[in-house]
Amino acid sequence: MIATKGYAAQSPTTDLAPWNFERREVGPNDVQFDIAYCGVCHSDLHQIKNEWFPGIFPMVPGHEIVGTVTKVGSAVKKFKVGQLAAVGCMGDSCRTCENCKQGLEQYCSNGNVGTYNSKGKDGVPTYGGYSNTIVVREDFVLHISDKLSLPAVAPLLCAGITTYSPLKHWKVGKGHKLAVLGLGGLGHMGVKFGVALGAEVTVLSTSPSKEADAKKLGAHKFVVTSDKEQIKNVKGSFDFILDTVSAPHDFNFYLSLLKTNGTHILVGVPPENIGIHPFGVIGGRKSVAGSSIGGIPETQEMLDFCAEKNIVSDIELIDIKDITKAYERMVKGDVRYRFVIDMKTL
Ligand SMILES: [Zn+2]
Ligand SMILES: [Zn+2]
Repeated sequence: MIATKGYAAQSPTTDLAPWNFERREVGPNDVQFDIAYCGVCHSDLHQIKNEWFPGIFPMVPGHEIVGTVTKVGSAVKKFKVGQLAAVGCMGDSCRTCENCKQGLEQYCSNGNVGTYNSKGKDGVPTYGGYSNTIVVREDFVLHISDKLSLPAVAPLLCAGITTYSPLKHWKVGKGHKLAVLGLGGLGHMGVKFGVALGAEVTVLSTSPSKEADAKKLGAHKFVVTSDKEQIKNVKGSFDFILDTVSAPHDFNFYLSLLKTNGTHILVGVPPENIGIHPFGVIGGRKSVAGSSIGGIPETQEMLDFCAEKNIVSDIELIDIKDITKAYERMVKGDVRYRFVIDMKTL
C-alpha cells in the first residue's frame, strides 16, 4: 500500500485536519501522480457536511486535481513518468453500460466511482485530492498542457467541464445570445467558454458591483436583475440561460427572459424542488434542462480547447491549513473565482 498524507473531515461536524491513510498499490492499468494543486469546489463543503447524502468518513475531499506522474502500471500506454496529469470528479465507472460506451461516464447507469466519498470496485472508499498523491485507472486520467498555468488548470476539472459540456451539447455558439446566471466558480468559466465559442454573452446578476468583473472576463453585456428597466430590455431575448446558481431562485422569472424555443440549462444545485408554472414553458415552447460535469472524452476535449484558446480559471492560491477559512469565504461568495490549494503546503 502507498502511505499518503491528506486533510480529512473525521465526521460531518469536524473541520478538516491532517490525516494519514493508504492508497492501493499501482496496478497494471493504474497511474500514480503526485498532486501539485487541488481546486476547492463548493460540493466539497456540501459533502463533508453531509448536505446531499450521508457521506463516507473520514472524508478527504477534492476533485480538481493536477500533478506529475510518478509511476505507471505495466499495461499503461497513455502516460509516462514525469508527464503532467489530471483527475476530475470520477475515478472509474462500469465501462459496459450504454452511457459509458458513449463516453458519458458521468451518467453511468450503474453509478460511476466518485474521486472521493465513493467506493471503488474493490469496495474501498475513495479519497480525493486534498492529499499528496493519488492512484487512478489510466482511462480516467487526463492529459494537460504545460503551456497553461498549472494551478489555474485545476478548476477546469470540475467547474470547467460542468460549464463546457452543456454549451457543447446544445451547440451554443455564433449567433446565439447566452445569459450566464451567477458569477462564481462555475459562472466565470461559463462566461469564458461562451465567449470563446462565439456567443454573445450577458451576465445576469443581482449585484451591480460585479459588472466590471464580468466585462473583464469577456462578457459583452451585464444586466442587474433587480433593475426593471434593464430587465424589460432583455425579456424574451436569450437563446440559452446557463444557470449556475445553487441558492433558491425564481425559474418563472428567468424563463420569461428566453426567446421562443429557448433553453434554461441548470448546472447549479438549488437545495429544493424548482417550481415552474406550466405556462412558463408552454408559452414559447421553452425547455428547462440540466447537465452534470462531462464524460472523459469530452473532458479531454475541453482541456485541449483550453490549451488552444489559452483559457484557465481565475484563482486564489491558498495554504491547506487555511482551508476552513477558505470555505467560510466561499460560502459568502468572497472568492475570485476559485480557491486552489498549493499541495506543497501539506
Ligand atoms: Zn466540483
Ligand atoms: Zn456505466
